[in-house]
Amino acid sequence: MQFRDLKQQYQVLKAGMDKAILDAAASGAHIMGPQVQELEKQLADYVGTGHCISCASGTDALTLALKAWDIKRGDAVFVPDFTFFSSAEAVSLEGATPVFVDVDRETFNIDPADLENKIEATIRKGESVPKVIITVDLFGLPANYPAIRRIARNHRLLILEDGAQGFGGSIGGKRNCSFGDISTTSFFPAKPLGCYGDGGACFTDNDEWAALMDSYRMHGKGSSKYENVRIGMNSRLDTIQASILQVKLKAFAEELEAVNKAAAEYTARLADLVETPVVPAGFLSSWAQYTVRLNGKTERDGLQAYLEGQGIPSMVYYPTPLHRQTAYRDSGLPEPDCPVAGRLCETVLSLPMHPYISSEEINRVCNAIEAFLHREKEAGGERSR
Ligand SMILES: *Cc1c(COP(=O)(O)O)cnc(C)c1O
Repeated sequence: MQFRDLKQQYQVLKAGMDKAILDAAASGAHIMGPQVQELEKQLADYVGTGHCISCASGTDALTLALKAWDIKRGDAVFVPDFTFFSSAEAVSLEGATPVFVDVDRETFNIDPADLENKIEATIRKGESVPKVIITVDLFGLPANYPAIRRIARNHRLLILEDGAQGFGGSIGGKRNCSFGDISTTSFFPAKPLGCYGDGGACFTDNDEWAALMDSYRMHGKGSSKYENVRIGMNSRLDTIQASILQVKLKAFAEELEAVNKAAAEYTARLADLVETPVVPAGFLSSWAQYTVRLNGKTERDGLQAYLEGQGIPSMVYYPTPLHRQTAYRDSGLPEPDCPVAGRLCETVLSLPMHPYISSEEINRVCNAIEAFLHREKEAGGERSR
């Protein structure tokens, strides 16, 4: 069993995929070929934003957004404590200060109440100026945008939506990567919409920021490639990756339906056994991960080992809250108070999930979880006798 079956996806899409790849190879336009602009238009249409600016990775996409806003030393950027490292890394790369915010124990996303606390504490302390809230649509589920937008408006902060895992999710039909003032995504192969290497994109309705990000991704170009008006980056999406993404985007609606069906099957089987993922009413997840919560670290680690013994892969996303990563532990940043993130790191487990997982495979995973928990209960019963 595969945790995320990219080989099977390739087999399903093979005919169109092989042609797209060979056409890109034959075209000779390997950088910024016409497929890149076509894809950007298709992605902007799908998400519902005025602009899409593709680039070389999801991390670069965050960096391009922060550069467009001139985020720098002395600026505070609020980042959930429970996410992939690069949500905060991009902030630090620009010299700004990430302020870690706790998350909601049920949705895994940034907790609006703690966000408000951390903003007020940052203002009181006066060492850095609040500028941006980075929201993460963790595991595919949109963050609580109604609440976060209110907070952003009250404090005049910008929202940078890190939709690296969220492409395809939505709230009331409005899609992820359209909720930020700038939003970003990643095309890393295992993300909901992945290419065959690294890639990413920025989305915005704002013409000025779009033009700045377009400049920053190409060495700070001005009106031509060889007029450089600012210090930028080399961060473009390859033509061949754009071609691959065009093929995957055509299959995406069907895949989104398939992962939601798979998630419903998991939840129906597991709801009485473990804490299953919570999707608020009106929200749709793109299920980058299907993540359950166990009662404690011993039980979680025991289950993961048991599943491994049964040939079932599982992953701990994430084992360490960002503020306790070595890179941040010694950075002189104050220890933030994020108890929920710390607890989640000890109790979460992500199960095999992808559009091509079968009901038989889901059943096998659920049977194994049931058997493990039953065995634990018996052993626990014996211990207490
Ligand atoms: C994967 C990921 C990124 C980074 O994307 P890359 O394309 O790997 O640079 C950023 N944020 C989150 C939440 C991610 O999951």
